[in-house]
Amino acid sequence: MSKSPDSDRLILGIDLGTTNSLAALMTASGPQVIRAQDGSALIPSVVSFAADGSVLVGQEAKARALQDPENTIYSVKRLLGRSGEELQKESEGLAYTVTAGDRGLARVSIGESSYSPEEISARILGEVKRTASAALQREVRDVVVTVPAYFDDAQRQATKDAAELAGLQCLRIVNEPTAASLAYGIDGSKDGRVLVYDLGGGTFDVSILRIQDGVFRVLATAGNTQLGGDDFDRLLAERMLGSAKLASSALAASDPFALQTIRRSAEQLKVLLSETEIASISIDIGGEESVEFSIARQEFEDLIRPLIDETLDCCRRALADAELTIEDMDEVVLVGGSTRLPLVRKSLADLTGRAPNCEVDPDTAVAQGAAIQAGILAGGSADLLLLDVIPLSLGLETMGGVVSKLIMRNATIPASVTEEFSTQVDNQTAVDINIYQGEREKVEDCRKLAAFKLRGLPPLPAGLPRVEVTFLVDENGVLRVLARELRTGTEASIQVLPSFGLSREEVRDMVHDSIEQAIPDLRARALIEVQNKARAMVVGTRRALELSDLPGDESWSLRAAVDDLDRLLSDGVDEATLNGAVDKLSALSMQIADDMISSAVTKALREEA
Ligand code: ADP
Ligand code: MG
Repeated sequence: MSKSPDSDRLILGIDLGTTNSLAALMTASGPQVIRAQDGSALIPSVVSFAADGSVLVGQEAKARALQDPENTIYSVKRLLGRSGEELQKESEGLAYTVTAGDRGLARVSIGESSYSPEEISARILGEVKRTASAALQREVRDVVVTVPAYFDDAQRQATKDAAELAGLQCLRIVNEPTAASLAYGIDGSKDGRVLVYDLGGGTFDVSILRIQDGVFRVLATAGNTQLGGDDFDRLLAERMLGSAKLASSALAASDPFALQTIRRSAEQLKVLLSETEIASISIDIGGEESVEFSIARQEFEDLIRPLIDETLDCCRRALADAELTIEDMDEVVLVGGSTRLPLVRKSLADLTGRAPNCEVDPDTAVAQGAAIQAGILAGGSADLLLLDVIPLSLGLETMGGVVSKLIMRNATIPASVTEEFSTQVDNQTAVDINIYQGEREKVEDCRKLAAFKLRGLPPLPAGLPRVEVTFLVDENGVLRVLARELRTGTEASIQVLPSFGLSREEVRDMVHDSIEQAIPDLRARALIEVQNKARAMVVGTRRALELSDLPGDESWSLRAAVDDLDRLLSDGVDEATLNGAVDKLSALSMQIADDMISSAVTKALREEA
């Protein structure tokens, strides 16, 4: 038997976006989006050069965008392969310095140095590569990268060069609307026409595609390279700054840190408004102070309506260019994060006379399509972990280093379980939540996923604080653990992707080990449980002894039994011996309690008589 040469060839599909980039991989069950350890798929297409010489990419870089505008590069895709007049137009309004270098091509200035857009894009692709290699536990080399349909040869070549600089081999460049159509299941097996409406963070593109004999052809494109979600954030931020409370706050609109806070709050508020009719957010204005701002969806929609109307004009223009009408379209598909806006969906429904197709996640559709194309090139399917069931149990560490499982292996996704826990020590004001994955009983035999601390518990005797812990696995397989102290309401949470870096083989081995080790594991767990019980008895009985005024004899025998148990505990004796001593002590204290009650009863009777 011989293995077919391409059967485990790994080719990644990458959406190198203006605002966000991400990757996906074709698997036997379809394209699967690559997620980082914290469960996030989108990597902000932002690169920031810090003063100490370090270079940040993604989320960390985005956080610095308004604080260090000259050294934080965003939207670099606009500059790829551009020169002359186009470059001038595209670099207008960017907060960092762009100059025309060799052959009039763009250079980005950072302090004394300058970089080409390819070099900056390579940093973003490098981050995508690192995330994917870690998630798949394999070095990624071969990729398919998407570009806007209107990209010319120079822009396509610049994209390929960026991939090469990142140590990747770009096997194919695919048009974004084609990739989006593939993700929507339009696979070329049927002839037809598709309108792809792509509204992202900084750009809007509409494309009219014709599919004939399995070939996708772009008939027309239109759009606006300066229109997207960022504009909605900006409009909302302006409205927020104009509100009485914020205007009179200590927050200065000219302070870049403040501006960063407002912009981020505006984006969060916008995203909330896609789900609810009215949303509010509390904005930290420095110190301990915060200001509440709320807005209705209607009011937000009035702000952005002119921009959405402009996108509809672009759709009409593209149709006219293709000499087609909306009735000629067999499908209208939505991609780009901003198509989550209800106003976009409503407006498109009005334009087309039917509900637009938005079955595929608009953030990841293009990457998924790139993965489908990559899968075709690889000629096989890669073996990424399937996530419709939870492959390994999830739980947290409890006393004595055992794992208390909340979500069991093979539970279907999404899943959610809540249980109550308490403290082990008196006056404990913080608890560690250590999260583990695996089938074995003890923490050292399981895989540690994440840890966090819940602080601010009321100082109470051990066992009294009530800590509610919820494990929630969403449809993407991302686990969120939330811990809440019920008396004070203080809470803390963390998010992690349990399948990160885990292969099918490792899951199989972990399950296999748990079966093989089941009996020794159960014994170990039983021992720990007796130890926990013994420890509690030693502490509890000693405390009772201190408080009570037992007659000398009884107090002495009880004390001896407690010391015995304590010694056995520190000697680390086996379960049976320890259990014997526990039983002996509880029998003795029971006896003494009985005696005390009966003597109290006798005394009471005597007094009555
Ligand atoms: P690009 O293709 O330009 O890289 P994306 O397709 O990733 O961009 O879209 C990013 C934009 O989508 C951002 O402006 C973001 O705020 C916006 N967005 C993401 N989710 C939502 C949502 N639920 N409602 C409204 N806008 C959203
Ligand atoms: Mg995009």
